[in-house]
Amino acid sequence: AYLDAIAERDGALHSYRLVDAEGALARADAIDAERSRGATLGPLAGVPVGLKDNFVTADLDTTCGSRMLEGWRPPYAGSHAARLLDAGAVILGKLAMDEFAMGSSNENTPFEPVRNPWALDRVPGGSSGGTASAVAAGLCALGLGSDTGGSIRQPASLCGVVGLKPTYGRVTRAGMIAFASSLDQAGPLARTVEDAALGLSVLAGADPRDATSLRAPVPDYLAAVDAGREGDLKGVKVGVQRSSLGEGLADSVRARFEASLEVLAERGAELVDVELPHFHLAVAAYYVVATAEASSNLARYDGVRYGASAAREDSPPSSLVELYERTRSTHFGAEVKRRILLGTFVLRSESYADYYGRAMKVRTLLARDYAGAFERCDLIASPTSPVPAWRLGEKLDDPLAMYLSDVFTIGANLAGLPAISIPAGFCEPCDDCPRLPIGLQLTGRRLDEATLLRVSAAHE
Ligand code: GLN
Repeated sequence: AYLDAIAERDGALHSYRLVDAEGALARADAIDAERSRGATLGPLAGVPVGLKDNFVTADLDTTCGSRMLEGWRPPYAGSHAARLLDAGAVILGKLAMDEFAMGSSNENTPFEPVRNPWALDRVPGGSSGGTASAVAAGLCALGLGSDTGGSIRQPASLCGVVGLKPTYGRVTRAGMIAFASSLDQAGPLARTVEDAALGLSVLAGADPRDATSLRAPVPDYLAAVDAGREGDLKGVKVGVQRSSLGEGLADSVRARFEASLEVLAERGAELVDVELPHFHLAVAAYYVVATAEASSNLARYDGVRYGASAAREDSPPSSLVELYERTRSTHFGAEVKRRILLGTFVLRSESYADYYGRAMKVRTLLARDYAGAFERCDLIASPTSPVPAWRLGEKLDDPLAMYLSDVFTIGANLAGLPAISIPAGFCEPCDDCPRLPIGLQLTGRRLDEATLLRVSAAHE
């Protein structure tokens, strides 16, 4: 049924980069056979899942949304694919994304940009836009995304689904192609809070292949959802940073945000004002730290080790430097090059102290701001995106406007905290705008995904 739905709808959405129909059907048959044998089945037995194309999958092309990796077929399964398969999942295919996960609209791509299922002339958000679009349109039951500065939560918000970025280290990074290693986290996108909790239960936990994965025990996330469904949030303190809700916030988003706060208050939560004094510096700090790390991580695409190479062209390069130059200038897209240049610039010995060093200080201050706020509240509520889904092309020639759309999501990555985006209703359709979904973001204490899930389920 999912493969039929993909065949029917994905021609208009472009959410899949690759559909493995044959592999998926064979796998589904194998799970069926196990079931008939009376074998004990995993928690995702037979569940059709889609993976963002930056997750390494054995024998399935993994392009990271880039011409640079076109045709690269990993010889092994990354930890995420392996855990999903161990749990019984059926992998339907690989989902489209901004090139190397850099972007907020899925337009940074050499391929056909993904569309928002709620309005085909609108972006699905990014960079996990293919995953969000596929989940929203029912083209996979559970999706895997990655979030470096909001890439799970922002597309979830723009497509009206649930997206959870876990605490840094809660989920392994082994087998997720690196963008900015100190910020990257993998997590689930799903139609309901319960499905996201189930996805997290399968993904979370220490991994010997990733030294930054955390050894802390994995709580019972489904029990947290059950507790939330009872609807009683008495004793839960929800922080709100009023000063962040100013300029740039769409009226429709503000209205839905206030309505969500009322829902939480009705369930018994106490609303408290909090202030993160360095919040306004987060976007600037993020685009220094993320580009610095990206410039280093992307150095490995040299035309020798992976994927595309100028060496295979008709007139091969005559030196190693020419091989690097030609491979990288031909096969990286414009935004990826912009990030590599920015990152290289901020790391130069002449500018390191002024840019990278200061950004790292801001990062520390922001983490302290959150720690201070969490002395007064259990989680912080905010919009996920300041605006609903915009039209394709609308922000494409203004990278700064695109970067500013990450204002609410980036703090959680810089501070390593868990955060979730859940559906919070729709904007009223107006003259030039259809009815579009709006998301609510909840950011929690380190390793306290359970409270996020509980409060999300109560809101649902
Ligand atoms: N939009 C942000 C960026 O372009 C976040 C991307 C992400 O989380 N992968 O860097």
